[in-house]
Amino acid sequence: MYPNKYVIICGHYDTITGPGVSDNGSGTSIILEAARILKDVPTEYSIMFIHFSGEEQGLVGSNHYVNNVAYQGGNRVLDIKLVLNIDQVGGLIGNNNNTINCERDEGGVSSNNAISNTMTQELMTCTTLYSPLQTNLSHAYSSDYMPFEAKGYTITGFYETIQSNNEHTVNDTYANLDPVYIFKVGKAAVGALQHFAVATTTSNLLSTKETTQSSAETVRVYPNPAKDLITIEFQQKVKQFKVEINDMAGNSVLNVENEEKINTSAFKNGVYMITVKTEKGNTTKKIIINK
Ligand SMILES: [Zn+2]
Repeated sequence: MYPNKYVIICGHYDTITGPGVSDNGSGTSIILEAARILKDVPTEYSIMFIHFSGEEQGLVGSNHYVNNVAYQGGNRVLDIKLVLNIDQVGGLIGNNNNTINCERDEGGVSSNNAISNTMTQELMTCTTLYSPLQTNLSHAYSSDYMPFEAKGYTITGFYETIQSNNEHTVNDTYANLDPVYIFKVGKAAVGALQHFAVATTTSNLLSTKETTQSSAETVRVYPNPAKDLITIEFQQKVKQFKVEINDMAGNSVLNVENEEKINTSAFKNGVYMITVKTEKGNTTKKIIINK
């Protein structure tokens, strides 16, 4: 729907003194996992997954990105709905890590503070919906969202509530952090991304193994947008399959078996979800009917 408007999830992968497993291996691993889980999920806004470098040297990577990619020649070229930064969410093993700081913008440019407050409230709601964590409203400071903030973009972030104080030391190791805490922050982040980018269906990868991957590449649905006829085409011949079409309210509007040509002449103009089910798994795609 809005391919040129972005939800950015970001975090730095560099470290300073020590292996940096929590600061910020924790954040970068969540970003990778979010990309894996969401790669086949249709969303209304585009999602950008960014690992920045040079954060510990003074936000070098994110500064460069904002001033050369998001902004070019003093002009804002990248339309960003929200920047969600994740930095140091590993906790310390043995602590009761049941809360995550959700960071709103309280300083810098003032024109973007109110919208950051709204988005951070939504981040907190998503966190309690999608993870067992409690939330603590905090403020954004000294991480990769700050260069975005300085240009007036809307930012929010996650940071551990009970600080390990192992950052920037040789003790920032896997043995010292709380992997279950990172897992929970990851659940909150994936839920929040689906909310902010407006996912139109949830990923099967969340509940099942990667059965959708193999089938997703082998089914083609065309044309898209379509008028009165949709064709289902498999890369390799499939005899037994089911096709389900739902409208965006979730109502089933069509259910057929083994039909490669589907008559859509009775469909109203709009966006639909088409699911093709084979023994290998399910593939869901968004189709537009436009007559
Ligand atoms: Zn950090």
